[in-house]
Amino acid sequence: MRNIYFDHAATTPVHPRVLEKMLPYFSEHFGNPNSPHAFGRRAACAVDEARDAVAACIGAKPSEIYFTSGGTEADNWALRGAAHALADRGRHLIVSAVEHPAVLSVAAELEREGFEVTRAPVDAYGAVDLAALQRAIRPDTVFIGVMAANNEVGTLQPVKEVAALAAARGIAFFTDAVQAAGAMKLDVKELGADMLSLSGHKFYGPKGVGVLYVRSGFRLARLVAGGHQERGMRGGTTNVPGVVGLAEALRLAQETLEENAAHAAALRDRFVSRVRREIPFVEYNGHPERRLPGNANFSFRYIGGESLLFNLDLAGIAASGGSACSSGSPEPSHVLLAMGVPEGLARSSIRFSFGRGNTAEEVDCAVDRLKEIVVRLRALSPLFPKDLKNEVFPQEA
Ligand code: PLP
Repeated sequence: MRNIYFDHAATTPVHPRVLEKMLPYFSEHFGNPNSPHAFGRRAACAVDEARDAVAACIGAKPSEIYFTSGGTEADNWALRGAAHALADRGRHLIVSAVEHPAVLSVAAELEREGFEVTRAPVDAYGAVDLAALQRAIRPDTVFIGVMAANNEVGTLQPVKEVAALAAARGIAFFTDAVQAAGAMKLDVKELGADMLSLSGHKFYGPKGVGVLYVRSGFRLARLVAGGHQERGMRGGTTNVPGVVGLAEALRLAQETLEENAAHAAALRDRFVSRVRREIPFVEYNGHPERRLPGNANFSFRYIGGESLLFNLDLAGIAASGGSACSSGSPEPSHVLLAMGVPEGLARSSIRFSFGRGNTAEEVDCAVDRLKEIVVRLRALSPLFPKDLKNEVFPQEA
C-alpha cells in the first residue's frame, strides 16, 4: 500500500533544488558568517545573498529582513517585541481569535505581565469581523495581529483592510504569513504590514528557519539576546544552510506560484466535491472560495477526529486534526470554536492539505479509503443514530 501525504500545511518536503543549494554550506562552506576570515566571509556572502533574495520576494529592503529559528520565533518576536517597545504609548493589544498558538500563547503571557489583549472575533468562515475589530480599537491600542491565512481552515483574512484600520490610528500591524507564503503573492507594501513572519518548511524549504520582516523605522525590542548577529537584533550564529535554503525555496515558490496554486486547488476541489457527494453528514469548514488553494477541512459527524486520523494513518493516509503543532492534543480546535462550530463537530474535524507531489489518483484512492473508514467507524459509534442509514453514496458516473 502506498502512503499518501495530505498534510502539507504541517510541513513540506525540501525541494531537490533547495537541498542542492544548501548542501555546500554544511561542509565545504561551513564558516561562521561572523568570522573575519575567508571561511567566514564566504558564509556571510551567502547570508547576504539569501537576505537580498527574501527581500526581493516580498517587496522589502534587505535591511528589513531578520532570520529566525522559524515561524514560532518570528511570531513570538513580533508580538512580544512590539508590545515591549510600544508599552510607553499603550498596553492594549488586539489579535484575531484564530491566530496560531505561536501568537495566542504569547498574548496570554503578555496578559499575565499586565498587558490587555482583545481577541478579535471571526465570522462563521473564520474571517476576522472588521466591524468588531474596529470597535475593539482603543486610544491605548498599540498592536494588531491578524494572520494572512489560517492554518487550520485555510481562510484568507482581509489583511489589507485590517492594515488600513491600523495605519489610520497609528497602530502597529503584524501579519503571520507562514501559511500564505507559497500560496499567494506577498508584498509587504501592498499588504501594509509593519511586520510579517515566514517559515521555511511550509514552502518546500528546510525546518528550523524563518523570517521576520520589520518595516524600517519600526521600533521592536529584541527577543533573543546574545551576540551582534542580525544587526544586533537577534543573537545566535546564523543557520547558514537554513537561510540559503529558505531563500531558494521562497524564490522557487514565487516563480511557480500560479502553477503550484492551480495544481493544489484542482486536487483540493476534486477531493472536496467527491467527499461532499459521496459521504453523508459532513460539514466543509472554512470559506468556500476565499481560502488557501491546498486546504480542505471537514467535520465528519458522529466520528471522533482522533480515531478517524488514526484509522486514516493505518490506511496510509497522512492528514491532520486541526493545527499541526497541537495535533495529539484532545482539545477541540480553538479556530473552529471561534467560528461557532459546536464542540462535538469541532472534535470530529480533519484537515487535508495538498501539495506539489500529490496526484489525482492519490485523491481518488484516499476518498475510497476514507469512505470505508467512515462507514466502519460510524457503525461502531454510539453517537450514530440507529435510524440513520450508515452508507456512503456511490460515485456518480
Ligand atoms: N504560524 C502559522 C500560521 C503556522 O501554521 C505555523 C506552523 O504550523 C507557525 C506559525 C509556526 O511555524 P514553525 O513551525 O516554523 O515554528
